Amino acid sequence: MNYPKVILKSGKDQSVKRYHPWIFSGAIKKIIGNVNEGDLVRVTDNKDEFLALGHYQIGSIAIRIISFEEKEIDKKFWKEKISNAYKLRKDFGLAENENNNVYRLVYAEGDGLPGLIIDFYNGTAVLQMHSIGMYLNKENIIEALKDNYGEKLTAVYDKSESTIPFKSGINAKNEYVYGSSIENIVLEYGNKFKVNWEEGQKTGFFIDQRENRKLLAEYSKDRSVLNVFGYTGGFSVYAMHGGARLVHSVDSSKKAIDLTNENIKLNFEDTGRHEAFAVDAFEFLNDIDNKYDVIILDPPAFAKHRNVLSNALQGYKRLNAKAIEKIKPGGILFTFSCSQVVSKENFRKTIFVAAANTGRNVRILHQLSQPVDHPINIYHPEGEYLKGLVIYVE
Ligand code: SAH
Repeated sequence: MNYPKVILKSGKDQSVKRYHPWIFSGAIKKIIGNVNEGDLVRVTDNKDEFLALGHYQIGSIAIRIISFEEKEIDKKFWKEKISNAYKLRKDFGLAENENNNVYRLVYAEGDGLPGLIIDFYNGTAVLQMHSIGMYLNKENIIEALKDNYGEKLTAVYDKSESTIPFKSGINAKNEYVYGSSIENIVLEYGNKFKVNWEEGQKTGFFIDQRENRKLLAEYSKDRSVLNVFGYTGGFSVYAMHGGARLVHSVDSSKKAIDLTNENIKLNFEDTGRHEAFAVDAFEFLNDIDNKYDVIILDPPAFAKHRNVLSNALQGYKRLNAKAIEKIKPGGILFTFSCSQVVSKENFRKTIFVAAANTGRNVRILHQLSQPVDHPINIYHPEGEYLKGLVIYVE
């Protein structure tokens, strides 16, 4: 194992010793050997003690660690990583379940593979690589996927064009790297969804809301439900299955609304209880006084960076204040933030201020997070991004 060696400054090795998978460029004292972006490097402390193996990249996060043990990073390593990730999904009933064939197979740091996302859609694995080191291991990853799934793997689609740093000169393209897909209908806990990984947002579907959608179904019976920022209509389909009296879906994108209508048709013969609107959420909410028993607010990340955090919090506050003000007495609001930079505490405080502005009595029924196929590595708290509150508004 003759990898280039990276020596950390004394005192800058604490986070690695506590298994944090990132090393910032400022922690590096010296690099010995010739190192290119994406190379595997061997990290030691100032006294030459081994700490980790990771992928090197130019930028503020200089090394993404893939092993805290000194071992061979070979085909066997990748196969073990993928099969471990699969085992977790299988053990928790997401894989090999006849009612469910969509799940996140690899959630980056949460599965010990920083820079790699793999979503599984009924036979098609969609890869999204965020680091050059991962990208250079694409063939090993595909081989490990084939090894894990056998004939159950019909295609692998690489969707890394927009996630690999442009300046690296790698020119990543979105393309099939194995097989081709004929099936684009997936089953999530028995609900059918059409997924377009080639053109859809992210890898095509927001798998992370699965358990929260399931909870919504339990609150939908005989109620009128408004799903705002609906995208594929995920929450709407669950509300319909849960026996909602009426379901309205709102998204500013016409494509999303068309997809929502398609998904409703896929699941129900009688679509009369559902209607979808391609309008701006803030505008729609102006005009909903006392109309809905249940409202879902699942907006896109308002803050992608820390420097826009306060604007983002204002946005969440405005949105939630409208919904809390206008929901029917005894109403239930499912409200979410998927901004990584908005902490659980900040989000809850924002909903508190929104509620206080309306003067209504509000109680928290559930505090929601991300599901088991988006596991949070305890040594990498940055992996926690999805927060939700279910509140009861008197
Ligand atoms: N709830 C969805 C995911 C939402 S993604 C699910 O369970 O899958 C966020 C969605 O918000 C996108 O579809 C985007 O088109 C929509 N959106 C963004 N800004 C909006 C706005 N101002 N008004 C309405 N929809 C908006």
